[in-house]
Amino acid sequence: MDKDLKNLTPERLQRLVEMFGQKAFQAGYLFTFIHQKGAADLDQITPLPKDFRHALRARGYVISTLTLRQQYADPDGTRKFAFDLPGGSRIETVCLRDGDRNTVCLSTQAGCRMGCVFCATGQLPFDRNLTAAEIVDQVYQVRSHCGAVHNVVYMGMGEPLDNLDAVMRSAALLNDENGANIGIRHITLSTCGLPAAIGTLAACDLRPRLAVSLHAPDDATRRKLMPVARKYPIDSIIAALRDYQRQTARRITVEYCLARAINDSDTHANRLVARLKGLKVNVNLIELNPFTGCPYEASPPKRIKAFAEVLKNAGLETAIRYRRGRRIQAACGQLGATQIKHP
Ligand code: SF4
Repeated sequence: MDKDLKNLTPERLQRLVEMFGQKAFQAGYLFTFIHQKGAADLDQITPLPKDFRHALRARGYVISTLTLRQQYADPDGTRKFAFDLPGGSRIETVCLRDGDRNTVCLSTQAGCRMGCVFCATGQLPFDRNLTAAEIVDQVYQVRSHCGAVHNVVYMGMGEPLDNLDAVMRSAALLNDENGANIGIRHITLSTCGLPAAIGTLAACDLRPRLAVSLHAPDDATRRKLMPVARKYPIDSIIAALRDYQRQTARRITVEYCLARAINDSDTHANRLVARLKGLKVNVNLIELNPFTGCPYEASPPKRIKAFAEVLKNAGLETAIRYRRGRRIQAACGQLGATQIKHP
């Protein structure tokens, strides 16, 4: 059995306490103290009998915690947290403040296998998947510095659907009313478009909101931005989204990052409208955030507005997401930028 108590669902904690000859309700103390009160050590869970705590420790059970290495604050209110993982990798987590509400952008992998060229994380070597405990602990650590967390977006380092089991378990832990109690509609998974995993997600009982990074309306343009487009043609992604919507009736967010003279013309916008026909979507247009070594530039603001107009005139719900946290390299596509080794 997994020895990290932070990884365990309430059901598995219950089996564990029974295995130790304890009453089932002790599992409730374990879960609440770890996920609601942020306990980082068994000794902080004082309602548990001392003998039981000692027995757990003697058998190697722990409550893992990420090591906070550095914090950054942008004058626009965005904060970034860098954590060291056992084994030496570093991940980053962002807290975006809107009025009195906090949205946390989570990392799911150390590095990323997808290699999107407009994304700093994609230039890092892939190290490993994060565990569910390492994913939820980002929320708990941000909560201890910034206050209550209202929304969670899996849009940080890594492709969430490439680590689906741990991601879905972490979403269930965050959603639990005895834990952080974050509503499932306040949790969003963002994917670069892995059709089979989108199908798996559609069949799950507990289903966060889905965001898909298209970034282009055709395969040739998409391949310039996302190597994964060579494996999954856009038709297969759109088909997976149609199936997803047929099964779930859920609205989907389409993310589209605009790169100057690459994917930002009116022709691209019109093709995107045609691609999305019949899907219930809202489109987020994102300003590209260049980093050292990024081959593309951001589209000029006027071009982004013109692109948005084409979509709006065609009846698509469209929003332009302006840069947040850019000065601390916490904006979309910038996470991990300081770790890139330049020749
Ligand atoms: S955009 Fe997302 S999927 Fe693409 S390389 Fe970056 S982290 Fe990975």
